[in-house]
Amino acid sequence: MRTAEPLHLRLLRLLRDHGTISRAELADRLEIPRPRLLGELDRLVALGYVAEAGMAASRGGRRSTLVELNPGLRFAAVDLGASSVDVEVTNGRLEPIAAYNEIADIRSGPKVILQRVNELLAKAKVDGAYEKLDAVGIGVPGPVSFRDGVPVSPPIMPGWDRFPVRELLTREHGCPAVVDNDVNIMAIGERHGGVAHSVDDFLFVKIGTGIGCGIYLSGDVYRGTDGCAGDIGHIQVDSHGPMCTCGNVGCLEALFSGAALAKDATLAARNGTSPALTERLAANGTVTARDVAEAASEGDVTCIRLIRDGAGGSAVCWPAWSASPTRR
Ligand SMILES: [Zn+2]
Repeated sequence: MRTAEPLHLRLLRLLRDHGTISRAELADRLEIPRPRLLGELDRLVALGYVAEAGMAASRGGRRSTLVELNPGLRFAAVDLGASSVDVEVTNGRLEPIAAYNEIADIRSGPKVILQRVNELLAKAKVDGAYEKLDAVGIGVPGPVSFRDGVPVSPPIMPGWDRFPVRELLTREHGCPAVVDNDVNIMAIGERHGGVAHSVDDFLFVKIGTGIGCGIYLSGDVYRGTDGCAGDIGHIQVDSHGPMCTCGNVGCLEALFSGAALAKDATLAARNGTSPALTERLAANGTVTARDVAEAASEGDVTCIRLIRDGAGGSAVCWPAWSASPTRR
């Protein structure tokens, strides 16, 4: 599919993923005639997307000039969590320039949350992070129609269904905006600069307040026809399981999200099966998933079991071993 992409997109993608690169190497990598590449590069330099970055080391003949994504570009990255808003502004090298974080309840609805996002971006502008944004990307904790730029029936985001997030951000900031599922974006990040940078097919599973999954197939994010391909958190794994926040019973998330883990941990602290958790409950008045992780690393048997159970081998989660997805 990539070969059918317009040249300027292939070029910008390569500059984004590779960083500074010589004109000669660009021509080699894109397998296009030099004059055509140079013409396209001149056009992108004139538009302000690409900048010259000095001379490359000689490859024997005339030295080639280096180019990069214009460091003067400004991108805003917004991460909406179930209970937090993170806003960051980067330059064209994707280096962070300003970052803001605050607690916010996604259930407050799109108008309240996006207004807050715009206020944080306005603050970044006042703080000198940018004059004009070149693009905004936003991740939301639920399924998204990538094509339409809207959340689609997100289980933990009441009021957000098909809200025109992309349209609102584009209008507000006068630049292109991209809306995607937060875990897809994390998967893209791992592919770009993390552990998956040399892998074309992988799953990225995030366990936070909820559970989500980013799917990479043949080097591209796979979203499925309705954008829900990686939305594994609300798949029912136990028809007699606990009630989920989405209203159904026995969802994966109800069994082993950060919230579910905290609930099991509170029980273990109260009934005394985990001395470490009982101690933390007495000291802090509450126990969290983080407490479970810490106590497990200290060797607390109950906490280790809670994590093992959630990872898929449990007779508690799956009454029959044969029904466990990891034990077929
Ligand atoms: Zn659910």
